[in-house]
Amino acid sequence: MNSDNNLPTITRESFAFKPGTSLPHSLGRTGVISTPHGEIATPAFIPVGTKATVKGVLPESIGQLGGQAVLANAYHLYLQPGPDIVDEAGGLGAFMNWPGPTFTDSGGFQVLSLGVGFKKVIAMDTETFRSDEVMAKNKERLAHVDDDGATFKSHLDGRIHRFTPEISMQVQHKLGADMIFAFDECTTLHNTRSYQERSLERTRLWAERCLVEHGRLTRERTHRPYQALLGVLQGAQYEDLRRKAARDLGSMEVDGESFDGFGLGGALDKENLGTIVNWMCEELPYDKPRHLLGIGEPDDLFTGVENGADTFDCVAPSRQARTSAVFTPDGRVNLSNSKYQRQFAPIDENCDCYTCTHYTAAYVAHLFRAKEMMAGTLATIHNERFIVRLVDQMRAVIENGDFLEFKREFLGRFYAGNPKRQAT
Ligand SMILES: [Zn+2]
Repeated sequence: MNSDNNLPTITRESFAFKPGTSLPHSLGRTGVISTPHGEIATPAFIPVGTKATVKGVLPESIGQLGGQAVLANAYHLYLQPGPDIVDEAGGLGAFMNWPGPTFTDSGGFQVLSLGVGFKKVIAMDTETFRSDEVMAKNKERLAHVDDDGATFKSHLDGRIHRFTPEISMQVQHKLGADMIFAFDECTTLHNTRSYQERSLERTRLWAERCLVEHGRLTRERTHRPYQALLGVLQGAQYEDLRRKAARDLGSMEVDGESFDGFGLGGALDKENLGTIVNWMCEELPYDKPRHLLGIGEPDDLFTGVENGADTFDCVAPSRQARTSAVFTPDGRVNLSNSKYQRQFAPIDENCDCYTCTHYTAAYVAHLFRAKEMMAGTLATIHNERFIVRLVDQMRAVIENGDFLEFKREFLGRFYAGNPKRQAT
């Protein structure tokens, strides 16, 4: 058993980030994040295992397809099976038999999004009128935020729960991931400017409380490996707020505790993704890692890498795979299309994943039509490999190649029918 109980106490020196090669004329860079459970070469795409499983895929397969870490969700694991059970199991990695590095996100986004029913943000129309009540319309309001925390109804059984910064830290310490996130209020692009200002201040005060509680728990739980705490930056589409958030959290120190890295979070509209990431990364300390939360479309990944983000996570590759939508160099295609019934060749000839090296597109298409469980498994392995490999290739060309040429070539082909999303 690889139980953490047998490991010697690991100090906070066991977490580090070492920046590597910089991309000329931009904030893009390579680097290595060291954690008590291994290293992550960045930039890197981190597969999401929301409930301590990448749906339908063995952790061994995630390792084989090049996944360097897994990100699970504190909100879901808090509700089920509960943080005590994960703690008793030896932490998230031991519980799910994943030996590598792990992340949990704080639950802030899920508490509010599953409560009030707004979607992640990237496709949001910024031109619509802004109102702080928009998100509550037509929906029972399942979450309520106040200055101390958030009260929400479980989406599983309707029971009432409460998260505060302290509770989020306690939950995430019990879950035991190598990298955890501060509890933040995730606003939408629909909130008014004055609400964004108030919310940003609330998130700043919550960040201080997270540092205090994180420090206390770290000192108390010396039998566990050190967990790195990442502060989460909000500020929606406003340059002054985004820069302020980065400066505030970047320099924050409470009781000798400061953040080990940063999560770039919240409302990010696609058109301005690069600009907003750039504002934050210009202000953040250079020697700490930056995780861009919830981003996984190929064009957005290039934009994120170019503007200084080091790691990424997104449920899209696996979620889309389960609906038979798979990536190819010529764009995303759907295996339900009748032309794949007789494609006795891999989904992608150039893909080195387990699915493409062992099965034909015709077979996977058949599994989807027959509603066989293995359909989702094989498609997920392919999609996760495609995105993990794409970001690995970005790292390789930053180190030793022509990033802009690779970007132009990849996006030109991937979005051939959609010139707006090709590289400029
Ligand atoms: Zn493949």
